[in-house]
Amino acid sequence: MTKLQTAEYATRLTCDEARNALVKENNPITSFENVPIRSSLNRILHEDMLCPVNVPNHTNSAMDGYAIQFSETTNFENTSYELKGSAFAGRPFGDPIGGNAAVKIMTGAAMPEGADTVIILEDAEEKNNQIKFKGLAKPGQNVRLAGEDLKAGQVFLEAGRRLTASDIGLIASVGISEVKVRRKVKVAFFSTGDELKSLGESLNVGEIYDSNRYTLYGLLKDFGAEIQDLGVVKDNPSELQKTLLSAAKNNDAVITSGGVSVGEADHIKSVLASVGKINFWKILMKPGRPLAFGKIGESSFFGLPGNPVSVMITFMQFVQPALSKIAGETRRSPIEIAARSTYRIRKSPGRTEFQRGILSFDENGNAIVSPLTAQGSGILSSMTEANALIHLPAECGEIEVGAMVRVQPFSLQV
Ligand code: AMP
Ligand code: MG
Repeated sequence: MTKLQTAEYATRLTCDEARNALVKENNPITSFENVPIRSSLNRILHEDMLCPVNVPNHTNSAMDGYAIQFSETTNFENTSYELKGSAFAGRPFGDPIGGNAAVKIMTGAAMPEGADTVIILEDAEEKNNQIKFKGLAKPGQNVRLAGEDLKAGQVFLEAGRRLTASDIGLIASVGISEVKVRRKVKVAFFSTGDELKSLGESLNVGEIYDSNRYTLYGLLKDFGAEIQDLGVVKDNPSELQKTLLSAAKNNDAVITSGGVSVGEADHIKSVLASVGKINFWKILMKPGRPLAFGKIGESSFFGLPGNPVSVMITFMQFVQPALSKIAGETRRSPIEIAARSTYRIRKSPGRTEFQRGILSFDENGNAIVSPLTAQGSGILSSMTEANALIHLPAECGEIEVGAMVRVQPFSLQV
């Protein structure tokens, strides 16, 4: 039996164990829909796409110049070519050519039959329909071959891919206007805590605005989920139970923040025990130690800690890979690069740490990372200031200035 099946309370897991368990315990949705090409952006491709045509579909010129038939025996400097006509993109020259014939050709125009090489305009001198070329030519130069981008019949996009801007351009380039994508993952989320106020309400002593719901909104929108925001739920067992059960009914996943640690008001544990099979994990990481995971009916439940930075980090490290699996996505690992730390980083072995840092490049183009000074799990501004997480594995101790560390960029700006 796995750790996940045996333990109900406070199983201690490493980050890798937790992530692997989450990926293993969640299954991809199989239903799909046909959507117009533009709507397929950032969606997950349902099946391999086969290319119906060659791209480009005709051999064409890569430059403005003259199309000729290359001959090893021609002495360029002394040969005069005869201009036979012109070929434009979309308006080909109709006749075959060979010998000393040349056709003036524009970028993208189909190569005339018999022509295999293009000499650029700058290397040519045209006078009275006679053309002389300067310099040397290589056979086949400046020509784009039919099928050199994509060949008819080949798989050009694989199932499970998150479609990008170039992907949808590629789909258009082969003439396809509708795409089969997985249906969106449906996710409901809410915040728990008596201290939480919604925007527009005034704060009394000890109360705070609910920020996690907005952070989660952003993370889930970026992920491409179909979301249902269920607001703030008080630390009240019957209200929690009601909300959880109705959220689970219509969604693939339910995410909450707050109430999973060992505090007095953490009712969510007993409520969860009554609605589904939920495990409570103590993950050997900082920040974001407690995490609850399990099933409420068919729906996956993720109970994240309440601290705003912990919410983001546990989402990125655990929820995102699990949701990616549910979405049918095949690439699930964040990019990690090596960077030199510009400061000493205090740490003792035992827990994995994700510190916030600013990734940039030194004058030689080498990656460097500066950890931020404020690393508290409640300091959300540190996530805004940072552009990367410094991933310090459990076994590692203090990091000296100049030592290499692993870095997960989460924002592309430097
Ligand atoms: P908890 O995990 O419920 O014990 O909460 C841990 C810390 O996170 C407490 O300081 C909470 O006030 C704070 N917190 C919990 N939920 C939210 C939220 N939705 N927005 C902002 N802070 C929160
Ligand atoms: Mg709470």
